[in-house]
Amino acid sequence: MTSLPGGSDKGGSAPEPHPIVCARCGTQARAPQPTWTCSVENGKRRYFCEACSRENLRAIEGRLDSAWW
Ligand SMILES: [Zn+2]
Repeated sequence: MTSLPGGSDKGGSAPEPHPIVCARCGTQARAPQPTWTCSVENGKRRYFCEACSRENLRAIEGRLDSAWW
């Protein structure tokens, strides 16, 4: 009786079923994009598309809340 190493147990860290939406322009993506930026604010995940990420970088670097947008 052998078990696969690192057995995959369903219900573990499954990807979010909901599509990610850019918190700035509203662009949707079916799957997490490597070019997108994900930031956590107040326990909420915020995704930004590639274009918005560039603009968001300034805010992130300045540690500013996105509320001023
Ligand atoms: Zn965007």
